[in-house]
Amino acid sequence: MSLPCLPVFHVPVVVHTPVHSAVGAVLSYACALQLAPGTLVRVPLGAREMLGVVWDGLATPPDGVALRPIAAVLDGIAPLDGHWRRLVAFAARYYQRNLGEIALAALPPQLRDLQPEQLSRRLRRPAPSDAVVQAAAPRVALTVEQEAARAQIANQAGPFLLFGSTGSGKTEVYLRCVQEMLAADPSAQALVMVPEINLTPQLEERFTARFGVASVVALHSGMTNPQRLKGWLAAHSGQARIVLGTRMAVFASIPQLRLIVVDEEHDPSYKQQEGARYSARDLAIWRGREQGAKVILGSATPSLESWYASRPATTDDPGGRYLRLHMPSRIGAGALPRLRVVNMNHQPRRTVFSAPLLAALQERVERGEQCMILLNRRGYAPVLHCADCDWKSDCPHCSAHQVFHKADRTLRCHHCGFTVRVPWACPGCGSPDIAPMGRGTEQLEEQLTALLAGVHRPDGSPVRVARIDADTTRAKGALEAQLAQVHAGEIDVLVGTQMIAKGHDFRRITLVAAVQPDGALFSSDFRAPERLFCLLMQAGGRAGRDAQYIQTQGSRSEMWLQTFHPEHPIVAALRQHDYTAFAQQQLQERRDAAMPPFAFQALVRADARTQEVAQGFLSAASEAAHALGLPGLGDHVTLYPPVPLAIQRVANVERAQMLLESDSRPALQHFLAAWQPVLLALRSQPAHKGLVRWLVDVDPLAI
Ligand code: ADP
Ligand code: ZN
Ligand code: ZN
Repeated sequence: MSLPCLPVFHVPVVVHTPVHSAVGAVLSYACALQLAPGTLVRVPLGAREMLGVVWDGLATPPDGVALRPIAAVLDGIAPLDGHWRRLVAFAARYYQRNLGEIALAALPPQLRDLQPEQLSRRLRRPAPSDAVVQAAAPRVALTVEQEAARAQIANQAGPFLLFGSTGSGKTEVYLRCVQEMLAADPSAQALVMVPEINLTPQLEERFTARFGVASVVALHSGMTNPQRLKGWLAAHSGQARIVLGTRMAVFASIPQLRLIVVDEEHDPSYKQQEGARYSARDLAIWRGREQGAKVILGSATPSLESWYASRPATTDDPGGRYLRLHMPSRIGAGALPRLRVVNMNHQPRRTVFSAPLLAALQERVERGEQCMILLNRRGYAPVLHCADCDWKSDCPHCSAHQVFHKADRTLRCHHCGFTVRVPWACPGCGSPDIAPMGRGTEQLEEQLTALLAGVHRPDGSPVRVARIDADTTRAKGALEAQLAQVHAGEIDVLVGTQMIAKGHDFRRITLVAAVQPDGALFSSDFRAPERLFCLLMQAGGRAGRDAQYIQTQGSRSEMWLQTFHPEHPIVAALRQHDYTAFAQQQLQERRDAAMPPFAFQALVRADARTQEVAQGFLSAASEAAHALGLPGLGDHVTLYPPVPLAIQRVANVERAQMLLESDSRPALQHFLAAWQPVLLALRSQPAHKGLVRWLVDVDPLAI
């Protein structure tokens, strides 16, 4: 008796093959069932078994090879929908990455290791089923500006740029928009993205307070793998109505997505700086359009890209793609801080804290107010130096200094992590006369503690100076604990890196000071002024948030700047709190220099054992592009010569890069797509032995 012949389907499956390639991510497998695209499966690859996603289109099995069967189907999870698959495919294409890499990285890590039985056990566990959104009634009535923004968002398609001062009530607008959208559609979901979730615990609290814990899930890298899987499943199943997350959340499966909020949209952390270098903000715009969700970008200091994209129409310009909504007023009329500029040219040499700044700090502390001092360099001193032979604490593995950390008496490289104990005498000449040069946060804290000794708080207790930076917050929970101390008023003067300037709602801070901001004014990075302006505006926004206190005490919040260049245009713009003027001036410069947003850029980076190999690879890639006459090259796409990176060597790897510029995004994309296989082929040539890695960075943030 012959068995009935079972039909066998050929199924295309996306897996994460360890190949640096846009091709070869979709493999063919055999299955007795016809599987819908988006179904999660486990498939054999070589000797391993791995997670894969059934993809669209027809499988193209290689001739004469028997297809291996799909090992298991994770049928407890609904297939990932077409929106998700298109987003992932777009991101892979746009950022020149392997489809499998992007698709699998977008899934919670634990999903990769679970067998279907383990998964169904997990899925069987009850989650609360009555997760009906019972929005707590908002206790505040919207201001006129907030109401205008809300109405625009409700009635227009967007995307929106919500340009609102720090403390203008942007978060309240997000909450209202989410609430209305959830109320109007019982299955709708919202995605709210923040730059770094650990720095904005207050936001999560505000959302859970308004919508209940059951309807809000978080998605960020600080969660454990089981937590991430749980959150991801809740979003994918539609049970979670609000997904709150960092940049990775842009890839979450949210089938009923109707609204995306990107808070602090200017923040560089939205751009992934490793592996697939995607911009979660830009993908949010793409995703919103594709999936029919409204997108709100919010900021007090928008990126110049978003600012330009939201320019109003004029008689000879149709205007930008985004709709700009303006909320200039701070809630409760808390005025923005007054700018105080100390001209360091008139201060004694080597002054760190000028006398007027010290006097102001003392006065604030004695009134029971808090101050914040910003410096963008952690550690005690950027370098240890020998006065006799000029020896410097260079990292043996990088073209960078090892930073002196006094607390644990170490020299630490901030690029590769290489750490040694501080030598007693100069390793070069044996002289004991070695000393720190320059200043970091650790030293500022020490000096300030000494300078303010003898200053007392209103209750007679001595002033308390503390520091928050990457060094003091290494331990889990340390940052939260330190922030809680600031909030509780146990700290009077807080010294720190930009980490403390972001997003916190410190009520009693009435003075913010940047002691050495000048470096960024003359940086070779064309985005440095934008970042500095934004940092100072954001830091200033931390000051004077307790409007009621400020009014009753007759106090006035201040932003201090110690600079050798008081005439710099940034200073004038800061004085006026005039982002608009600053943006206009910067955009004019960018237009004149044909820089983004008036041009589109990509970088090719090459890392190798030697600088010659790194640059050689890039030169060969450039020559090949010219020899092949790749599309757009010469008229729309310009390839610049390879150059070493500013920090040329890190962890014994030499780094070089090559800039590409274009007047058109599609032309750049077209060129990159044609170039990718050329780069791949070059990589395996013997001439480029010693190449460690190469990558393409589309829309790079730092060039
Ligand atoms: P932003 O996100 O723009 O920095 P928030 O939304 O955090 O501003 O608002 C700043 C402060 O003002 C918060 O303490 C918030 O609770 C309060 N607030 C916001 N909107 C209103 C309103 N309409 N009436 C009263 N207080 C408000
Ligand atoms: Zn020496
Ligand atoms: Zn190093």
